[in-house]
Amino acid sequence: MIKVKNLYKKFGNLDVLKGIDEDIKKGEVVVIIGPSGSGKSTFLRCLNLLENPSSGDIMFEGKSITDKNTDINKVREKMGMVFQQFNLFPHLTVLENITIAPIKVKNITSEEAEKIAMSLLKRIGLEDKAYNYPNQLSGGQKQRIAIIRALAMSPDLMLFDEPTSALDPEMVGEVLDVMQSLAKDGMTMIVVTHEMGFAKEVGDRVIFMDDGRIVETGTPDKIFNNPEHPRTQDFLRKVI
Ligand code: ADP
Ligand code: MG
Repeated sequence: MIKVKNLYKKFGNLDVLKGIDEDIKKGEVVVIIGPSGSGKSTFLRCLNLLENPSSGDIMFEGKSITDKNTDINKVREKMGMVFQQFNLFPHLTVLENITIAPIKVKNITSEEAEKIAMSLLKRIGLEDKAYNYPNQLSGGQKQRIAIIRALAMSPDLMLFDEPTSALDPEMVGEVLDVMQSLAKDGMTMIVVTHEMGFAKEVGDRVIFMDDGRIVETGTPDKIFNNPEHPRTQDFLRKVI
């Protein structure tokens, strides 16, 4: 689904991504771990061109998204992204948050969009919040809404950047549960997280990033129980 070749990203003089090569298959759940500042968010943001790569190539579903002729908005429709800070529109109801993009971008009627939104809300048990505003929701509820808002566009790929890092501890589980059920349904997912339990249980593959590079990748069993690289070993000693 995604092929990344020799991806570099600089901010001014700062080399943030230093040659990333990575293939992600359809249906794969890939968890990215690594120290703060290692380039995890920048890597995710390059995948949907929220950041422009300095060099290298990214193919998505067989097309180069770094090619000038590619319509990046079309590509983004197929990639849902969930951020640490939810990013719901505060002046819109939950239902409007979920339906605004499908109505604007996919040219479907508001009735159709609302039907889809209500069934997604039902799936996460929040249909009674449809007419509430984001500030009337808990952090866990906001993040679950942010996830189904992305799903309402029927993406082929979901990107998550530390989706539980801003939550109170008691709300982490409800968000991870929604993500796990998505994974079970076969969604292709790239998840940056510090939740090692999620990585072990739900991840098909774990990528360890450090200093702008992929240091090591493998099954959760290999990375957590038998990491090869000293830097992976050192990181895991600190976080587990
Ligand atoms: P991580 O998500 O692994 O914590 P980031 O990708 O956010 O790492 O950041 C990697 C490095 O890039 C950090 O040194 C950060 O300060 C720098 N960086 C990220 N975004 C920008 C930006 N827009 N401008 C300048 N430097 C940035
Ligand atoms: Mg980050």
